[in-house]
Amino acid sequence: MRIPEHLIEQIRRDTDIVEVISDFVMLKKRGRNYLGLCPFHSEKTPSFNVLPEKGIFKCFGCGKGGDAITFIREHQKMSYVEAVKLLAERLGITLPDDTGEQAQSENNRYENAYNALRFAGNFFYKNLYGDLGSEALEYVRMRGFSEETVKKFALGYAPDSFNATMNELTALGVSEEALVDAGLVSKKEESGRIYDRFRGRLIFPIQNPTGRVIGFGGRRMSDDDKTSAKYLNSPQSLVYNKSEVLYGIFQAKDALRKLEYGILVEGYADLLSVSQAGFQNVVASSGTALTKEQLRLLSRFCKRLKIVYDSDKAGVNAALRGLDLAVEEGFDVEIVRLPDGDDPDSIIQRDGADAFQHRLKTALSLVDFKGEIFREQGLLATPTGKAEAVRSMMETIAKVPDRIKRDFMIQSVAMRFALREEDLYEELTKILRRNQFTEAKERAKPQSREANDALPATEPRKTGEQGQLLRLEEEPSRDRTNTPLSTALTRSGESSLEKTSSSSQSFSQQPSQQIFPEEEELLRLALTVEGACAYMKQKMGISEDFFLSAEAKVLFVIIDEASERGKPLEALLRASAEGEDLHYGIMGLAIRRETPSERWRDFNVDISEDLARMMRDCVHRVMMRTLDLELAALQDSLKYAENTDDGDRTSALLRQIQELDTKKRDVRLLLVTH
Ligand code: ATP
Ligand code: MN
Repeated sequence: MRIPEHLIEQIRRDTDIVEVISDFVMLKKRGRNYLGLCPFHSEKTPSFNVLPEKGIFKCFGCGKGGDAITFIREHQKMSYVEAVKLLAERLGITLPDDTGEQAQSENNRYENAYNALRFAGNFFYKNLYGDLGSEALEYVRMRGFSEETVKKFALGYAPDSFNATMNELTALGVSEEALVDAGLVSKKEESGRIYDRFRGRLIFPIQNPTGRVIGFGGRRMSDDDKTSAKYLNSPQSLVYNKSEVLYGIFQAKDALRKLEYGILVEGYADLLSVSQAGFQNVVASSGTALTKEQLRLLSRFCKRLKIVYDSDKAGVNAALRGLDLAVEEGFDVEIVRLPDGDDPDSIIQRDGADAFQHRLKTALSLVDFKGEIFREQGLLATPTGKAEAVRSMMETIAKVPDRIKRDFMIQSVAMRFALREEDLYEELTKILRRNQFTEAKERAKPQSREANDALPATEPRKTGEQGQLLRLEEEPSRDRTNTPLSTALTRSGESSLEKTSSSSQSFSQQPSQQIFPEEEELLRLALTVEGACAYMKQKMGISEDFFLSAEAKVLFVIIDEASERGKPLEALLRASAEGEDLHYGIMGLAIRRETPSERWRDFNVDISEDLARMMRDCVHRVMMRTLDLELAALQDSLKYAENTDDGDRTSALLRQIQELDTKKRDVRLLLVTH
């Protein structure tokens, strides 16, 4: 399917890239831009930049960069068309019709599975209000869930049949492969025949943060019927991995960001009740023991967590485990305890929202919660038990990444158990040392990402996908004298510069992933020569728009911002000394070769005049590159227009190509004139 260019244009223009990426990455504002931990590689200090005004992102750790479409493609592993569709959906833009058959022709297993799930979700939802759904609807009302809640979470009903869902979806063009990939059907061992997995159940669609249905939970509607499980979930599938799923995350994400904390419950019913009671910032782990992956997902939206699990023994143990994990992932965690036999759902349905609110307010800190549990277990009665309790407490505290927080916790443990802080620190040191040892062993294993990330930018990287800035480092054979920089020394354009940057402005193609050598040269000048950046902006009319690659655009913005604080390179180095993150790209750019200013000093020539020539030369080269790419794009369109016998378009394109060819000749002329 070909999406009209003007729509793609519109989508690119109207999409708020910060909003899109915020669904996956916790972004912090930094100047005009945003910074966060890269979702494409594992890192501890953020090098993932988002430029809202330009609509692009760039990671200097792994090199990934591009616009919102690129981001969705790479992150959600979608095709180009699907990524555009998803962004269009967000904007409420209707794309040319796509249902069943067309969607299948994508020949993308992921997309086919997602489509199957979407169709199934619609089918279930329709059923709930249809003839078949009366019992389910009655059950929903009995549980106290409002129509609004049903809508918000798109609850549904799966008919009590072995093939109703299957038949419905097949009629919509869903293949058997897609049904299986979507986890909607089970296979009979002997015959290999498939049948509906969800039968006669109330359905809870499970959505990912972008709102795509990735699976379902289904509850049987009678508690007398003990022959089948109370809840049935989607199996592990192509698109559903239960350890990465948080039920309700799509509906909760805005509230999570706004309130800056999340409420974590165990079950589907709990989540619906809590949300219906007005606490929108709620997510559920839905029957799996809380995992690191779930916490990482949540940590894109908030860093504080209130765990409200069942009060039974299993619930308490689950809370204890979750607590440790969450602490380890850097969350501030509190625990809400409930009376015996209650869960969040029962509390709210019986005692109301205010009662729940009160419990949230009186949530226990980590130390208080563990202390209470130990007391209930009778551990605090004997010295041995007490020592064990304290040790367990310190194990948890040792996982807190923030030292200051840790200090406060140790203080409160000392007070609660009437212990000396020194003794606790001694215990902490022991634990930390042991953990470090374990970690070091881990790191010693080959291919540990974490170890890689700790190294400076000069660390050779392997794949061609990585940033060009870094990639250059692993090409020692590259002839360093034969670079645009040295060519710039011998030839430089003389003509008027004012019009130089204009040609690229109209060229609204997707920024390319990798930085071009010409761009690098220009940026290196901006970075290492005082006043160069201002000169480029004021005298040459260059802005980040001038550059072709996302990487260059971002680098230019960073350098530009830094130059306002003095010499850009020094300003950036200073920033890093102050504890801010130093961008890999910047360092790569600066350290690769000797700075042009030094070099020029050796030649003993007037720096400013020749510097200007060098810049012009680079600028012309970038322009050439821009024109070349633009031409290539036009040639592509031309081929398409010719193949589809689109005469008007063909002649229009030919005209454009001719114009560009002329422009190219002009620029080439600038390049060779001395
Ligand atoms: P309800 O209030 O509808 O009885 P609940 O949430 O109180 O449900 P629990 O027994 O406390 O039910 O289970 C908590 C969660 O664990 C459920 O919401 C569900 O996600 C999951 N779960 C429970 N039983 C099963 C099961 N048999 N198979 C898979 N998941 C289950
Ligand atoms: Mn319950």
